[in-house]
Amino acid sequence: MSTTKYIFVTGGVSSSLGKGIIAASLAKLLQARGYRVTIQKLDPYINIDPGTLNPYEHGECYVTQDGAETDLDLGHYERFLNVATSQANNVTTGRIYQSVIQKERRGEFLGKTVQVVPHITNEIKSRIQKLGKTGDYDIVITEIGGTVGDIESLPYIEAVRQLKWELGDDNALVIHLTLIPFLKAAGELKTKPTQHSVKTLMESGVNADILVCRTEHHISMDIRRKLALFCNVKQEAVIESIDASTIYDVPNLMLAEGLDTITLSKLKLSDATPPNLEHWNGFIKRLKNPKSEVQIGLIGKYVELQDSYKSILESLIHAGAENEVKVKVISIHSEHIDKTNIAESLKGLHGIIVAPGFGERGVEGKIEAVRYARENELPYFGICLGMQMAVIEYARNVLNLEGANSSEMNADTPYSVIDLMDEQKSITNKGGTMRLGAWKCNLKKNSIVEQVYNSETIEERHRHRYEYNDEYRDQFEAAGLIATGTNPDTGLVEIIEIPTHPWFVGVQYHPEYKSTVANPHPLFVAFVKAALDHSENE
Ligand code: GLN
Repeated sequence: MSTTKYIFVTGGVSSSLGKGIIAASLAKLLQARGYRVTIQKLDPYINIDPGTLNPYEHGECYVTQDGAETDLDLGHYERFLNVATSQANNVTTGRIYQSVIQKERRGEFLGKTVQVVPHITNEIKSRIQKLGKTGDYDIVITEIGGTVGDIESLPYIEAVRQLKWELGDDNALVIHLTLIPFLKAAGELKTKPTQHSVKTLMESGVNADILVCRTEHHISMDIRRKLALFCNVKQEAVIESIDASTIYDVPNLMLAEGLDTITLSKLKLSDATPPNLEHWNGFIKRLKNPKSEVQIGLIGKYVELQDSYKSILESLIHAGAENEVKVKVISIHSEHIDKTNIAESLKGLHGIIVAPGFGERGVEGKIEAVRYARENELPYFGICLGMQMAVIEYARNVLNLEGANSSEMNADTPYSVIDLMDEQKSITNKGGTMRLGAWKCNLKKNSIVEQVYNSETIEERHRHRYEYNDEYRDQFEAAGLIATGTNPDTGLVEIIEIPTHPWFVGVQYHPEYKSTVANPHPLFVAFVKAALDHSENE
């Protein structure tokens, strides 16, 4: 008998309804009642992981502590729950097939025909139960990517059907997230797409236990009754999920709708302890009552898609609330800026972030933005590629090393101040081969970062192939660009600062992956504070 309870979240009618936010919000409520909860995402595409995907495909690639390149929903899980996720929390179809095929080659199915059912479905089931079997969780929530009815989703839905049957109704339930569209011309909310979607699920032998209905207008009792009757669920299991002004409102909205109580009652778990959301609500209060506003420029080349820089945007929200200031983010496309328009492009900003990225496109605009921030005492925060850009800018414009560059952008640069890491030189495969996950870093005494972290050693998550070239370190330091964070084992420079500038910090790692509601990241908090100081001194 399993003691871990399993919740499956499927989606219907449309993609982008926010399954990740619903899963994270329910998890938050259950956690706030004292349950140990984790969330897992199953992605039906064939890439082994999203590390090889352009951000335009599915948004940013999130990186876990143990170095998994994952779907951005894992970022929501961590930001809501403040519990680290791992490799086991994100599985793709590619990964499932890869393990089944490897087993076949090892002879583990010797004599048998290897098939989608049972071999692929068994592998999916074992991936789902792997987290439960650690004994670390009372409840595992599994979000199935895609929309029911998709060809790619079929083996996952079949695995859910089998698991539900094996585990029994008290131990597993299905939440189906759908859309209730509002037809303006008719002035009505329409339930038909949801009825069809629930039927599609039923054709695969899966009944939805709870319906979460995304809607722009409140759902009346009549509509709830109709949905319950035609979708085979109890009326109290029809949960309205109305558009919210911030994703951080969703746990409270779900609480008001009773999503947690219906879940607990179906899983025969106690709801005696009310959820303790004191800290969470303190955050919401600060978020909604800012005392002032700062404008931060986010300079990158994927700015057309909000999801490309999801974790950075969320980290700024956390840091804004912490400082009781509204952070207005102005996205600036790095390909649209050059020497002639830089002052105009950055006008009115109180701080800038140069975003992570890969490849040559848009790089010169980023370097121009760094120069402007450095010369005009504008708070500067460079993340990963943004740190590398700051190093290149300093080399070109302060050290006068003409043509200095990263060997990623120009293999023939006369001054490769950013260069391929030694361990990367023999690597040819692109997937999962960057320097990934958490690495230690020692901070220099009396640096900005030592004060910000209030610690001598930190651990942050990475995703890169290129690094600060140590051969130039003496030149940089003599000219005022100081290395203030280094890896204790390799000496790799992870952080640079300009001590004579009000706030100029570049980090080779990604602090945005570690900012949560419970623990806003200290670097983002300090950067927003610096922007606030800048705005007050204008
Ligand atoms: N392209 C750079 C590298 O590989 C920076 C990567 C990033 O910004 N994540 O080193």
